[in-house]
Amino acid sequence: MERGRSGMRAKRGFTLLEMLIVIAIVAVLVVIAIPRFSSQLERAREATCAANRRSLKGLLTTEYMTEGALRDTVAADGTVTLSDSEKAAYVCPDGGVITAKLDSSTGAVTVTCSKHAGTAASLGDADVMAAVIQAFRNIQTSNGSIDSGSASGASSKAAKVSAALRSQGLSLSDLGATMWRYTQHSSNNFGFYWTTAAAGELSAEKDVPVIKYNPSNQKYSVWLADVSSAGSGSSAYLYLVNPDTNSKRCLVNGTTDYAAALASLNAALKKSGYTA
Ligand SMILES: [Zn+2]
Repeated sequence: MERGRSGMRAKRGFTLLEMLIVIAIVAVLVVIAIPRFSSQLERAREATCAANRRSLKGLLTTEYMTEGALRDTVAADGTVTLSDSEKAAYVCPDGGVITAKLDSSTGAVTVTCSKHAGTAASLGDADVMAAVIQAFRNIQTSNGSIDSGSASGASSKAAKVSAALRSQGLSLSDLGATMWRYTQHSSNNFGFYWTTAAAGELSAEKDVPVIKYNPSNQKYSVWLADVSSAGSGSSAYLYLVNPDTNSKRCLVNGTTDYAAALASLNAALKKSGYTA
C-alpha cells in the first residue's frame, strides 16, 4: 500500500507548495549572490584604479629621476598638472579624481584618488614580487648579481630591469628601495634585497639593515648587510654585499607578511642610525 502511494506521488510531479518553496529558495540565493557579485566588481574597479595610480607614479618618478625635475607645471603645493593624454590613460573606473603631487625636497611622487583610499598597491605582495624577480631573471641569465650601484654588472642591466618593470607599471622606488641587489647563485638559488635607508647616509664598510625577498618560499626577512664602496667611492656607487654569506646576521626570520618585515626593517634602520 505504502509503495503504491509513493509511486503515484512520483508521477504527479510538483505540488504548488513545492514550487513555491523552490521559488523562495531561488529568491534567497539571488539576494545573497547579488551583493557578493557587486562587491567583487567594486574590488576589481578599486584594483584597476590602484594599478593606474601605480603606473602614473612610475611615469612621473622616472621623469623626475631622468630630467632632474618634474615639468614646469607643478603648483606651489606640489600638485602636478597632467596632460590630457595622461588624464585619459590614468583614470579611476569609479569616476574618482586622480591627483599627483611632488614633494620637491625628497623627489617623492604620491598619486591619490578622491574615491579610493590609500596610495598605490604595495610592491610587497607576493604575486607582484614574483613579477619583479622574473624581470631580474630574464636579464641576469647566468649566475651573478645586478645592483643599484651597477658595481658587479653592466649598468645597462639595471636600466633594463627598470624598463621591464616600468612596462608592467612597477617601480623599485615603490618599495622605497634606495639601494638594491639581485643575486643568482644557481638556477634555483636566487634572491632580491634592498634597503629604504637614504642612500646619502650610508657609509662604506658599515652594516645596514636590508629586507630580503626569498622567491622559493615567498618570505621576507631582515638582515644586516655590509655596504662597500666601489669605483669612485661616492655614495652613488655604494652597493650591498650579499648577506647570504653570513647567516648569523639575520634580524628577522622569514615572514610572508611584507608589512611586518618592512616595519622591522625601519625599526632596525632607526636603531642603527640610518633613517628610513
Ligand atoms: Zn579610484
